[in-house]
Amino acid sequence: MKTSPKFTILIVDDEKVNLAVLNRILSDEYRIFIAKSGETALQLIASEKPDMILLDVILPDINGFDIIVKLKEKPDTKNIPVICITGSDSEADEEKGFRLGAVDYIMKPFSSSIVKARVRTHMEIVRQMRAVERLGLTDPLTNISNRRSFDDRLNMEWRRAIREKKPISCLMIDIDNFKNYNDTYGHQQGDILLKKIAKIFSSRARRPADLPARLGGEEFGMLFPDTDGEAAVSIAEGIRSDVEALRVPIAGGEGVSAATISIGVVSAAPGRNAPVKDFISLAGEYLYAAKRAGKNRVRSGSMTASL
Ligand code: GH3
Ligand code: MG
Ligand code: MG
Repeated sequence: MKTSPKFTILIVDDEKVNLAVLNRILSDEYRIFIAKSGETALQLIASEKPDMILLDVILPDINGFDIIVKLKEKPDTKNIPVICITGSDSEADEEKGFRLGAVDYIMKPFSSSIVKARVRTHMEIVRQMRAVERLGLTDPLTNISNRRSFDDRLNMEWRRAIREKKPISCLMIDIDNFKNYNDTYGHQQGDILLKKIAKIFSSRARRPADLPARLGGEEFGMLFPDTDGEAAVSIAEGIRSDVEALRVPIAGGEGVSAATISIGVVSAAPGRNAPVKDFISLAGEYLYAAKRAGKNRVRSGSMTASL
C-alpha cells in the first residue's frame, strides 16, 4: 500500500539529551530535522520548509522568541506551527510563547505520550488547512472565502430558502475611493486595509451559516441565510460604522478623511423559480445606488418573490 509522504518536524534544542529523546519519540511518524542553534534552525527552516517546529526557547545564540517573531514576519513561514519547549518553572515563557503565536508548549522533562499527542493534534490542523487550501476556497490575502466558495454557498442557501420558505439576504460591499488610498499610501498599505476590513466582516458574521467573502479586488459579499431585510440592513449599518470607526486616514479630493465602505443590501423570500442571478445583480444595483448617493452609506431593497 502506498503511504502518504511523512510530515517533517524541525527540532531545535541545544541539549543533546533532549534532541535524542524527542527524535526517538517522533521519528517513527515524522521526518525529523535537528538544529542545535538558532542560526542553524533559521537555515533549515528556509531550506527544508518543515511542517512543524519544536523550539527550545533558550538557545546559545538566538533567543527562541526572536525566531518566532522572524517566522511570523514572512508569509511563507508564518503558518508553520511552533511548539515551545520550556522548563517546568517558566510559566512566563509559556505565556510569552503563546502571545507571539506559538500553538502549544511541551514541558521538560518530556512525557512521550504527551509529546506525541500534542504533535499529532497540531499536525491534524496542518493537514486540514492544507486540504482547505487545495480546494481553493479561501482568499489568501484576507483568509475569508473567495468568490468561488461564495457562489457555491449562495446557490445552496438560495435553494434552501426556497425549500424552507425562509428569507435570505445578501450584502455587496465596496471600499470607497480605494484607488486614492493605494495611490497615496502604497499597495502594501492597501492590502493591510483590505485585511482589517475583512476582519470586521468576519466578526459581524455571527451565525455559522453567515458568510463573508472577498469577491475580487476591493469588493466583498456577505450572505445571511434565514435573515430578513430589516435585520440585514441593521447588520450592514453596523459594518459600515465599524469600518468608519477604524479611522484609517484616507486622502481624497478635499483633504484627509477616514476610510469608508458602501453597501448594497438585497433581501428575498424566494419563490420556486426565482433566479438567484437577479438577486445578486439587484444587490449590485443597490451598491451602485449607495455610491451615487455619496458613498459611506447603505442602500437596500427586496426582490419581489417571483414564481
Ligand atoms: P469607488 O469609491 O467608486 O469604489 O472608487 P475606488 O477608487 O474604490 O474604485 P476603483 O474601482 O476605481 O478602484 C479600485 C482600486 O482597488 C484599484 C485597485 O488598484 C485597487 N485594488 C484592487 N485589488 C487590490 C488588492 O488586492 N490590493 C490593493 N492594495 N489594491 C487593490
Ligand atoms: Mg471602491
Ligand atoms: Mg471597485
